[in-house]
Amino acid sequence: MFPTTIAGSLPKPAWLAEPNRLWAPWRLDGAELEAAKLDATLLAIKLQEDAGIDVVTDGEQSRQHFVHGFLENVAGIDFAHKVEIGIRNNRYKAMVPTVTGPLRLKGRVHEPEARHARAHTKHKLKFTLPGPMTIVDTIADQHYGDRVKMAFAFADTLNAEARALERNGVDVIQFDEPAFNVYMDEVTTWGIEALHRAIDGLKCTTTVHICYGYGIKANIDWKATLGGEWRQYEKIFPALAASRINQVSVECRNSKVPMSLLSLLRGKDVLIGVIDVASDEIETPEQVAGTIEAVMKYVPKQHIVAGTNCGMAPMHSNIAQAKLAALGKGAALARERFG
Ligand code: ZN
Repeated sequence: MFPTTIAGSLPKPAWLAEPNRLWAPWRLDGAELEAAKLDATLLAIKLQEDAGIDVVTDGEQSRQHFVHGFLENVAGIDFAHKVEIGIRNNRYKAMVPTVTGPLRLKGRVHEPEARHARAHTKHKLKFTLPGPMTIVDTIADQHYGDRVKMAFAFADTLNAEARALERNGVDVIQFDEPAFNVYMDEVTTWGIEALHRAIDGLKCTTTVHICYGYGIKANIDWKATLGGEWRQYEKIFPALAASRINQVSVECRNSKVPMSLLSLLRGKDVLIGVIDVASDEIETPEQVAGTIEAVMKYVPKQHIVAGTNCGMAPMHSNIAQAKLAALGKGAALARERFG
């Protein structure tokens, strides 16, 4: 009852990358960097296990960014000439690489960290990949000339890596699709179909993470424009409920999403964010259990998984660790009370 997991990322140790920022530059290079990433992976797992997290991740210690970490291993992309584009419907600008030819996976993307993580934990292991819609929203295109066509080409590369991760012993594969609550109409017309292409043939558990983004300024400013009730999910939840994806991960803590919308995800496991990643205030176990209780009105308790609203990559390490502990303790409290 009420198993716990995190959205995916944890802060990186200061010896691996510059702390407290997204796109943080690595502190090392070459073989030293590759070894350090694996050391950091072990630390991330240990911190989660000690906090009582049931389904652990590699903390995304081996990638600089959740989208571009994958893209670096895809042929057909020119990283040498980055261009600035507006992403998430122009919410913010980012320097992005350009697709210049047919997309093809060059080889494995996450094999070293997946194998290392699998070898060092007996817990269930989750791995995250960017979703096709979010990728095409975070890259420039000079080849396909069609977002949908390009998304399905990316979905094929994601599928190849996902199948390989499954062979590495990964139990859960999660696709991060923050673009899903920006382009709601496209989710139903092609976004979910692209995800289906990405999960094709998988037997492991599959998840899609949707959210209102990291706690960075551009996202906080955007959220302030969304009004008192955030109903973006209302449009896409029925389509997700009808999809072949097993789990949906959404933010609930300090969110203005009406909890009643979660009832639209009938039949799915719902990974509810009970930890706010946009605030340094540490949730109490009581507050965590309270969020779980509020969600129980709309989601059968056997379908509730407790997690974080989003990735914790840009947070201070000590804050992230305290929040992990609150997550573990809060879920334990909820089990005692409502289990
Ligand atoms: Zn997120």
